[in-house]
Amino acid sequence: MSMIPVVALVGRPNVGKSTLFNRLTRSRDALVADFPGLTRDRKYGEVKHGKHRFIAIDTGGITGDEEGIDSAMAGQSLAAIDEADAVLFLLDARAGLTPSDHALATKFRSSNKPFYYVVNKVDGVDPNTAMAEFYELGVEQFYPITATHGRGVRHLLDELVATFPPVEEAEEDKEEDRYKSTKIAIIGRPNVGKSTLVNRLLGEDRVVVYDQPGTTRDSIYIDYERDGEPYTLIDTAGVRRRKNVKEVVEKFSIVKTLKAIDDANVTILVMDAREGIVDQDLHLLGQVVESGRALVLAVNKWDGLEPDHKDRVKFELERRLQFIDYAEVHFISALHGTGVGHLYESVNKAYHSATDKMSTRQLTTILEGAVFDHPPPMVNGRRIKLRYAHAGGQNPPIVVIHGNQTDKVPASYQRYLEKTFRRHLDMVGTPIRIEFRTSE
Ligand code: GDP
Ligand code: GDP
Repeated sequence: MSMIPVVALVGRPNVGKSTLFNRLTRSRDALVADFPGLTRDRKYGEVKHGKHRFIAIDTGGITGDEEGIDSAMAGQSLAAIDEADAVLFLLDARAGLTPSDHALATKFRSSNKPFYYVVNKVDGVDPNTAMAEFYELGVEQFYPITATHGRGVRHLLDELVATFPPVEEAEEDKEEDRYKSTKIAIIGRPNVGKSTLVNRLLGEDRVVVYDQPGTTRDSIYIDYERDGEPYTLIDTAGVRRRKNVKEVVEKFSIVKTLKAIDDANVTILVMDAREGIVDQDLHLLGQVVESGRALVLAVNKWDGLEPDHKDRVKFELERRLQFIDYAEVHFISALHGTGVGHLYESVNKAYHSATDKMSTRQLTTILEGAVFDHPPPMVNGRRIKLRYAHAGGQNPPIVVIHGNQTDKVPASYQRYLEKTFRRHLDMVGTPIRIEFRTSE
């Protein structure tokens, strides 16, 4: 089951939630919840702190008249809190404790999630004086921070992640999982055909399903065998939980999707050929790329399309998806089953590319060849030297390169190395990460 924790940022407008969110997620693309059927104005992003990672939810961007705003805020916040494992409740040291803060605090009181009371904007104010009035909330511990400059943020994160499951454990789990089954997450925005595809994949003749009872909120994990190979399907659409056709399936959830990506070895991103590639597809894609998971693209509803429509979709794919040229694309009809079986070829290839062992000798030989063909540039009159390479991780595969002046390796040269490793290692469907270490 998915381990990545979820943290909600709540508080009234202007306390600095977005500022903190942007600082935490850095330049990473935030996934904006502008999907139909979802509450708007919630942002999701991945945060890295030391060895820990978590998903942050920003509940900023609420607008409304003074009257309605408290309840709108509370509703928005409660929804985020419901998805979260921990909550950062932001307060504003400059504004002091306001009636809105009180109102929110009262609403949150019934929640049993761990809350961290964060007093932001302590820059230029005396922290002790500024904090004093917040004790009225009946809280014992506060975390003073300056979101704009990052002061106090590290301490806050240290305390926060200390309560998360240890990372080593999670990695061991992953290691073991490799011998258990290939975990495939089926993701995509609403109505692209995820449920239909899940049913189709599991309904195949060659498939033996060991169905598990559904859990409450997370994706359904379904173990099965195909041609004797073990797989686990991570069903974000929740099809298998539906007890009868009338039962309403839980609506699309971004947190569920992000958790599924994080927990999968391979992600199948389903898109709808009838609607073409829309921004929401690209946002999801961005998250998969960021996660480093292997990726297969399924362009669904390919049945019954006019030839010129097909051409348009293909053209669009080429134009907009250049940045993930490593992923294989399938044009399928989940409804009729066309092309569905072939997805496994890409899934298996991607899985092996992402998890196969890479030896130091093999990687170093490829590196030497690459450097011989195209030496790295001179910097400050000295040539960058790249000496040897070894594996630094799997899924995504990480190649660690040792040398000197490695911090000066230009991005273009890094891309060249990436391409060369990809070609020689015959890697398909997975990103590959290059890391440098200076050993002078
Ligand atoms: P949100 O509505 O809670 O998301 O708040 P924002 O992140 O949009 O911040 C509201 C305003 O407070 C912006 O003008 C920020 O630049 C400012 N702000 C945020 N953090 C700090 C801080 O640590 N110190 C100061 N002085 N201003 C801050
Ligand atoms: P989900 O929300 O992503 O799980 O999407 P569903 O699987 O519920 O499918 C949404 C709608 O698209 C349903 O009406 C399906 O019958 C239809 N659909 C799914 N796959 C296909 C397909 O390959 N071709 C066509 N024409 N319709 C499809």
